[in-house]
Amino acid sequence: MIEIKSEREIALLKEAGRIVALCHEEMKKQVRPGISTQELNDICERIILSHDATPSFKGYGGFPSAVCASVNEVVVHGMPSKKQILKEGDIIALDIGACYKGYHGDSAWSYAVGAISAKDELLMQVTHDSLFKGLEQVREGAHLGDVSAAIGNYAKSFGFGVVEEFTGHGVGRNLHEDPAIFNFGEPGTGPILKEGMVLAIEPMINAGTKKVRILNDGWTTVTRDKSKSAHFEHTIVVRKNGYEILTTL
Ligand code: MG
Ligand code: MG
Repeated sequence: MIEIKSEREIALLKEAGRIVALCHEEMKKQVRPGISTQELNDICERIILSHDATPSFKGYGGFPSAVCASVNEVVVHGMPSKKQILKEGDIIALDIGACYKGYHGDSAWSYAVGAISAKDELLMQVTHDSLFKGLEQVREGAHLGDVSAAIGNYAKSFGFGVVEEFTGHGVGRNLHEDPAIFNFGEPGTGPILKEGMVLAIEPMINAGTKKVRILNDGWTTVTRDKSKSAHFEHTIVVRKNGYEILTTL
């Protein structure tokens, strides 16, 4: 069942989303060659805690850290580490969640570490734009499949691999709620969107194969061909004639 949130709940979700956006604002300044993924994690955790919120991911299913830090061929669920030092030319996806008064905000963004290749720049741009192609479809009465198809078809038109094993999701009192939001699909299929549904839409796009595998730590998910991967995500609320982004300042 897809919950419809009240305006009171949406206000709390928006504050949770704002805290996540504050973390991303800081990450824009902090991501650089020489910094470790653990340092980035710790900065975000401090920002979240200083706003009366808690990191949504820490302890979720046993995940040990406040943020997911996924470098280069890591698609999602990279674990921050003191030993992982970013270097010029890397790309890193930081997935950040904050829980404020029981409500979650969830947003991922990919960042360039120093100067990156034109190919990696294109991967990040297309992944970012595919999120907004999906969002353009969101309004009351649209089918969820319209959103999924718009994302997938855009990314595939560049020859990129659209990850199928992980999806976007509803957000509310739980970090992951119904529905699962695939990044590929058919227009006119799936649930019909209604005002007040809160959704995290999150394309995960690979430069090469769509196929992924999970490493022995049980979390770190990498592309099978070691090609790079990008990830962008916003939590939004469905409105009558469109959508409102909640994970923004
Ligand atoms: Mg996320
Ligand atoms: Mg998410």
